[in-house]
Amino acid sequence: MRVLIVEDEPTLGQQLKATLEGAGYAIDLSTDGEDGHFMGMNEDYDAVILDLGLPEMDGLTVLDKWRKSKRKFPVLVLTARDSWSDKVAGLDAGADDYLAKPFQTEELIARLRALIRRASGNASSELMAGDVRLDTRSGRVTLNGDPVKLTAQEYKLLSYLMHHKGKVVSRTELIEHIYDQDFDRDSNTIEVFVTRIRKKLGQDVISTIRGLGYSLEEPES
Ligand code: CA
Repeated sequence: MRVLIVEDEPTLGQQLKATLEGAGYAIDLSTDGEDGHFMGMNEDYDAVILDLGLPEMDGLTVLDKWRKSKRKFPVLVLTARDSWSDKVAGLDAGADDYLAKPFQTEELIARLRALIRRASGNASSELMAGDVRLDTRSGRVTLNGDPVKLTAQEYKLLSYLMHHKGKVVSRTELIEHIYDQDFDRDSNTIEVFVTRIRKKLGQDVISTIRGLGYSLEEPES
């Protein structure tokens, strides 16, 4: 899952980036409204964390412009403490959730996880495909109840496919959503990751749809 953070406070921005990367997200960090707006218009994000007080263009204007341009990614706005008018304005401009500063990082991560889950139509934080379970809270993956160790990149790829179970996901889409902007993107590595995941979780877990991409089947009921 790829997330854009637009935050002008350098320490907070860097801290959030590091924490969320540690939690398995690919993160792009933007430090002003104009750049953040541009990134949101041109890249595909699974969610955006948007500060409201930003240089160049304020957060509400950024959000309003995105929504008018039909950018649909879920947006969590960071508001000043106790500013109810900020919260109302943020929600009116198309925010999906808000968090007042200062906040606990754990709460931010939990809200972010819920936003991404809801946006992809998943009600539960535990995702299932056949005998594979992925717990989005702990980042643990099991096969028939047995824990399976995945590398960070393997986890990101599997998590994206599991959030979009039953759909065909192209390699380009995977690249867009599991790597941040600065990552050296090579579409061949996707196939390498898929091969490794199949070795760990079974050949059938990910289907290759020729010429289109990959798909996880809905589990048979
Ligand atoms: Ca700010």
